[in-house]
This record gives sequence, structure tokens and C-alpha cells, in this order.
Amino acid sequence: MDRTFEAARLDISDLAGRMPGGSSLAIETIRKADMKRLTGLDVLPLATLSLRWLSAPNLEAVPLPATLTELRIWHSSKLKGLKGIEAAPDLETLELRETGLLEDAADLKSLPKLRSLSIVGGPPSLQKIASLDFLNGLPLTELTLTAIDGAKLDLTPITQLPNLEQLYLHGPNFQPSELAKVAAAYPWFFDQLMDLPDYPIDGMPCKKCRKRQKELFLKGKKGLWCPECDSKGLTKILDDFSELVASFR
Ligand SMILES: [Zn+2]
Repeated sequence: MDRTFEAARLDISDLAGRMPGGSSLAIETIRKADMKRLTGLDVLPLATLSLRWLSAPNLEAVPLPATLTELRIWHSSKLKGLKGIEAAPDLETLELRETGLLEDAADLKSLPKLRSLSIVGGPPSLQKIASLDFLNGLPLTELTLTAIDGAKLDLTPITQLPNLEQLYLHGPNFQPSELAKVAAAYPWFFDQLMDLPDYPIDGMPCKKCRKRQKELFLKGKKGLWCPECDSKGLTKILDDFSELVASFR
């Protein structure tokens, strides 16, 4: 069962009797005055929960069902920490999209099954994260950090994920030296950068030759490169980056 409600219309006691196990619930527009409507949420046998416009600094006032395996919180600028998330110890997938400055995510340590974590900003504003220290040693196999304000972020904790198999790190302003640390730790991530993926959005061809551009964020804000017209600059950047990576090995 898959249901969506505005928080003002949410009636948990009514849902409790009729929701089968493994259900999915999306709650939107959770104003401060609506927070009390979340009382009893933990009795619902949910596998998936999505919260949008959550008016709370963390999850202490959100009674998460212990059955949850997937949680998504988005468009929630008040959210700054994840305290309270330990109530859902079976959580495997967590997506945070356009929250406030993420100050404290240390509580992720209490989730032994967490496999996939995405933290995503959105145009026009980049997602701010105080530090990535919380990542240290998490059991993640997949990590996505997209549209992050990464200019001052130390990426070292990413290199200390023992089970990591997939990583999508998307600037636009991570420091090349920080990216090089990560590429030195995971040779497959280095290959992924060097492969120069096509820019995912069609309709931004090279202004000169109209060819589809490649994506690479290693030189300031320039993230789009024409494989032909920019080939000289590209080769230089890739060579410099390879040297930088070698220095971290
Ligand atoms: Zn071109």
C-alpha cells in the first residue's frame, strides 16, 4: 500500500487498522502545528517513509516505525541533525534532499544495516554539510553526494568506508586534492572520473562544434568539456590529476 497525505489531513489511528505490512507513506507540509499529528506513527508497519517540509531540527519528535527500511526527507530547511533516527535500526536506505545545514549526522552509527546514503542539494542552493566525519566506518555500499557545497569539506572520511562499491561525488566545488585522496583509495572511482561521463542533461552541446559535452569537475566551476575543442586542456587536467592521485597512494 502506498499513500500520500498533507500532514494536516493525516489520521494515524485510522490508518493503523488498515495498513498492511511493508507499506509506503509520504507525508507533506509538516508545519510546526502539525508535528503532533505524527504521534503514533511508529505503530504503522511501514517499510518506506517520505517526509517533505518537515518543521523540526532533528527526528526526535518523529516517531519512526522500527520496521522502516527506507527513509527520505526532502525540502526541509529546518532539519539540521538526525538525532532520533536510531528508532529505525533496520534502515537500509536514507535520502536527504535539500535540508538545512547538516550539522550532526553522528546518529547514523546506530544503523548497522545502512547500505545506501544520498545527500543531495538542489538548484539554486548547494547542500551544506558541516563535516563528513560521521561517515567514518559506516557499512555503506553506495554513497551519493550531489550538488554539495564542498569547497571546504575534508573528504578523508569517504576513504574509510570498508564496504563501498558505488560512489557518486558531484561538485561543483570539491577541491581536486580532496577528490584525489578518494580516487587514491578507490581505483574504480579514479577510473570513473577518467572515463568522463556524458553530461547527463541533453541540450547543452558544445557552442563551437555542437558535440555532446563531457562532465568533469576538477577545474573550478568548469564542469562541461567538449572532448574535441577542449581536448588539450582536458589532457592537461587529467594528467595533473593522475599525478596528484599517485602522490596519495
Ligand atoms: Zn566542441
